[in-house]
Amino acid sequence: MSEQEYKRALGYANAAFDLLRRSSIPPYPQFYELLYTYSTGVNPHLNQRINDIFRNGGTPDADLAEALYNEFLKSDVSDRMSDVSERMHARIEAVHDAIDLAMNNAQTYSGSLESAASHLRQPLAPKAISSLAEQLLAQTLQMQETNLSLEEKLQASRDDIASLQRDLDDVRRESLLDPLTKIANRKSFDDELARAIAEAQTSDSPLSLIIADIDHFKNFNDTFGHQTGDQVLRLVAMTLKSNIKGKDVAARYGGEEFVAVLPSTDLAGAVIAAENIRKAIQAKELLKRSTNEKLGRITASFGVAAFHPADSACSLIERADRCLYGAKRSGRNRVVSEEELERVLEKINADMTAA
Ligand code: GH3
Ligand code: MG
Ligand code: MG
Repeated sequence: MSEQEYKRALGYANAAFDLLRRSSIPPYPQFYELLYTYSTGVNPHLNQRINDIFRNGGTPDADLAEALYNEFLKSDVSDRMSDVSERMHARIEAVHDAIDLAMNNAQTYSGSLESAASHLRQPLAPKAISSLAEQLLAQTLQMQETNLSLEEKLQASRDDIASLQRDLDDVRRESLLDPLTKIANRKSFDDELARAIAEAQTSDSPLSLIIADIDHFKNFNDTFGHQTGDQVLRLVAMTLKSNIKGKDVAARYGGEEFVAVLPSTDLAGAVIAAENIRKAIQAKELLKRSTNEKLGRITASFGVAAFHPADSACSLIERADRCLYGAKRSGRNRVVSEEELERVLEKINADMTAA
């Protein structure tokens, strides 16, 4: 994490705490998350709702916080996960019960067989033999019934477990996607980067990272509305995704920031990829879906870094982030790689001194 990012996060955390103190909301983790999200401003609908309450002289309380948390933050995926897990538990219990019953019956049956055997070892009158045979027949039929019912229950469980498995796979897949843009989310980016770093280390092959941030996106949202902003995020995500290939992974890193992990790609290759993405984003003429109104174009800035043997995921991200910062400061809508960063920053300083 860069120092800049750390400071930003600390600012949000402090703001969330202040809000908790000023409201009647209890400081539980989920409500802290709610107010932290509010402080970042990434969810304008949420902010609008809370602002309306403050504006009308009210104080948000626990009930409201609960409702807002459920509406804006509670993850659908975790709900579905617990549903699948409940069904899984119920299924396993039913199989347990069926097996217990079958085992009890089998034990009773084996007891009956043993006692019949010991009777048969002694001389028996024909009547006793036929009564013994009748008993054994009845018990055998009962055992058959139990087996049949166990078989049916196991078959039903098998079908159910197969469908549970499919649901579980769906939930797992979804938990790795960003709900808005449907590309990989931060968590899967973290996993992918760790995997790519491990591979680069063992195979001694290159690995690069691109970080992109949409330029003046706050203005865009303020001018055209948050929903149109969301459409733009989807468009940028798709543009990013369609301009990478093979083992590359594009992800939404946060609000209006995106990343791409490029295995087997050196710095020069990653700069070319970033340039292609930058041009493709700039080339899109934006239209408001509902009205076909022309919204102009957007641009994004890019930082590109290549993995060094001494890097951790953190230090690699930090370096790419510093390059992104350089791209922003030197006018936006451009790509800055770690090779150019020093020169770019020097030029900015020189320009500032000259001005
Ligand atoms: P810069 O060129 O320096 O990056 O300026 P910026 O305005 O893009 O950067 P800033 O960090 O000030 O603002 C980012 C904005 O991105 C704030 C918020 O309105 C917007 N944003 C973040 N997440 C979302 C989202 O999920 N949907 C929408 N519509 N907007 C978002
Ligand atoms: Mg940003
Ligand atoms: Mg931005």
